[in-house]
Amino acid sequence: MAPIQQFSRRGFIRAGAIGAGALALTPALSALALSRPQKKLGIAIVGLGTYAGGQIAPALQHTKDCYLAGLVSGHPTKAAEWAAKYNVPPKNIYNYENFDTIAQNPDIDIVYVILPVALHKEYTIRAAKAGKHVICEKPMAVTVKDCEEMVAACKKAKRLLSIGYRMHFEPYTAELIRISRNQVYGKLKAFECANGFTYTQDPKAWRLNKALAGGGSVYDMGIYTIQSARYTTGMEPIAVVSARQEKTNPVLFKEVDDKVFWELEFPNGFIAHCKSSYSDQWSSTHAEFEKGNVDLNPNFYYGGIKGTTPAGPMNFPQAIQQALQMDNFANCVMNNKESTVSGAEGIRDMKVVEAVYRSLASGKREVI
Ligand code: NAD
Repeated sequence: MAPIQQFSRRGFIRAGAIGAGALALTPALSALALSRPQKKLGIAIVGLGTYAGGQIAPALQHTKDCYLAGLVSGHPTKAAEWAAKYNVPPKNIYNYENFDTIAQNPDIDIVYVILPVALHKEYTIRAAKAGKHVICEKPMAVTVKDCEEMVAACKKAKRLLSIGYRMHFEPYTAELIRISRNQVYGKLKAFECANGFTYTQDPKAWRLNKALAGGGSVYDMGIYTIQSARYTTGMEPIAVVSARQEKTNPVLFKEVDDKVFWELEFPNGFIAHCKSSYSDQWSSTHAEFEKGNVDLNPNFYYGGIKGTTPAGPMNFPQAIQQALQMDNFANCVMNNKESTVSGAEGIRDMKVVEAVYRSLASGKREVI
């Protein structure tokens, strides 16, 4: 499991970024830097929606090793507005039909797929076939099989794939992992994680459409919970013990799950308690160690993460997680090095997601 390094649909704190993106120059990177002086890698965003506009494009104004070079949108007016705002030349604007011609554009090194979940596979594979490296948003895809096809396509095209797992670049989260892995307060005895938000968006939006979203809160929010259980324990879960759900609004959540509870069983018998919701503002991680507790609350907002340990409050500068995430991937591309948040990491999470739904259906323990 890769080491780690916040989520608010409301809050995005533009505070000083920590320097995690500033990797020491390896000989290969030095050579690249010499041959392409001060070249930042060009990123093209596919899907100019809420996350792209609210977080990713602003974060790209703070990156050191990559920049917003291209746009892919089905809305020409929106694309033109973005282009004017972010100084993107008309030749770097694509729509979903002519997207594949991006292959001939040397300005674009990386394609960032920020579309509804069911479209992640198609655009990741098209981007790889166009010879571009790919960042794909979470959750990686609708099924494990789709995820595997995405990884295979990128491998075949010899392009790198990473998933938008920004928490790996968030300092409070990194501290929890350090504490857990180094047993700073002894062994981990208990773990609970909760992620959710109160759904107030359009009832016709893609998140409530199973065909486009894959599922509900487990896909969208539970993925943070699953990631957290995996990176805090440093182990891979072997089973979902028992999953159960509640629907606060069966009309709104007709197609997708709302509030879901499940336990993850690890090889040593450790049990992690997880829950996700579309009707609760849940954002907490509670880790009990032999010598005291570590809490993150909130645990996954874009800014304002807070943490406490037996030694007192954690105190780290807030980071622009997405800027660090994208710079990290740009460095992976420059060094031809697999990302710590690679497609393989996405597959592991989707295996857990599928087991959660199997357990919801069977009411039993389901092996992952
Ligand atoms: P959104 O609805 O605001 O944006 C989706 C974009 O996709 C829009 O620009 C829309 O026009 C476009 N689109 C193209 N084809 C579409 C279709 N058939 N149906 C609907 N939209 C279509 O969604 P969002 O909240 O920006 O989420 C987009 C992706 O980003 C999702 O995968 C989501 O899980 C992910 N996301 C990640 C984070 C994070 O913190 N990492 C946060 C929010 C969203």
